[in-house]
Amino acid sequence: MGIFADLKEKGLNQLRLLSHLARHENATPLKLANALLVTLQFKLFRSTRVFGYPYQATIEPTNLCNLSCPLCPTGMKPAGEPKGVMKFDEFRTIVDRLAPYLYDLELHDWGEPLLNPDIVRMIAYARAKNIKTRLSSNLCLLAEEKARELVLSGLNCLFVSADGVTQDVYEVYRKGGSIEKCIAAIRALENAKKELNSKTPEIVFNFITFRHNVHQKKDAMRLARELGIGFRDNRPMINFGLLGPFEEAFAAHAGFIEDLPSWLEHRNRVQAERRNNGFCDWPWVNMEVAWDGTVKPCCYVYSIRHGFGNLLRQDFKEIWNGEKYRNARLLIGKGKASDDCLCLFCREHAG
Ligand code: SF4
Ligand code: SF4
Repeated sequence: MGIFADLKEKGLNQLRLLSHLARHENATPLKLANALLVTLQFKLFRSTRVFGYPYQATIEPTNLCNLSCPLCPTGMKPAGEPKGVMKFDEFRTIVDRLAPYLYDLELHDWGEPLLNPDIVRMIAYARAKNIKTRLSSNLCLLAEEKARELVLSGLNCLFVSADGVTQDVYEVYRKGGSIEKCIAAIRALENAKKELNSKTPEIVFNFITFRHNVHQKKDAMRLARELGIGFRDNRPMINFGLLGPFEEAFAAHAGFIEDLPSWLEHRNRVQAERRNNGFCDWPWVNMEVAWDGTVKPCCYVYSIRHGFGNLLRQDFKEIWNGEKYRNARLLIGKGKASDDCLCLFCREHAG
């Protein structure tokens, strides 16, 4: 692509993003003005000090999980990583700080959100604050009576982690889970939606294609259709620049990868969609808050030991424009960041 065509394409991408935010069902003039402000600072200046707030966020209800998936840092149960559950009051404090500017809130990160006893209350609180909510769950723990509560909470979207249609294939990855319970929970949710005449949550069968389950993909699509839900053909995420050299990490996980060209094709597409015109813009537009209030720039950062601050103990601006966030922005803007900058080890920091 020539330089002018490239610039035109990038300009159009930006307009598409802003038009999406302007038409977002939870848009307000303040949110849009803030999104415009942070986007301009990212696009035009790669400013390391940001005036404005993140317009999308993740708050992790817990980093505990009932399953032991082998490629997930939680499933691998690393020794020494603190575990816990966020309390409702803490959640409320964090949401209140971000809410006036937030369009979207994900309520899952490195754990099973249904293990937090206040999860329904948390979703309802965020919805009452005019924020769109999304949850990702293995759904093995959803009791039938809770399905109704989840629908009533106003949750917008639910991704169901299930990568097989028979127990033997499903449990190769979802160790400790039950595909039967997961399907029963989907049916309970769909029934509750009908009873309550609710279109939400939109439910999506999130099928991660591995070598061991690729032969069940069509069956899973059929099952999703029969259940009346959506289907997402996903691939395992390997961004282990943060955990060690990529080649070594890839080799360690090669047994799960269906085939390299298809995995690379998927990864490139997801990266292109996720990056803002070739660059990671998360340190400008996104905030990740772990179960104990630790702030991280994105979900690739697993350990709370790598946090940029703590939103329950520090002022928002002290973290947002603190040394660690500014270092990450400096690196992405092609500046020289200090050696302890976390993003240095990540393959996403530049186009
Ligand atoms: S269900 Fe999700 S959080 Fe739990 S171990 Fe598996 S991938 Fe990790
Ligand atoms: S560069 Fe990597 S680690 Fe840093 S915010 Fe972006 S995706 Fe996350």
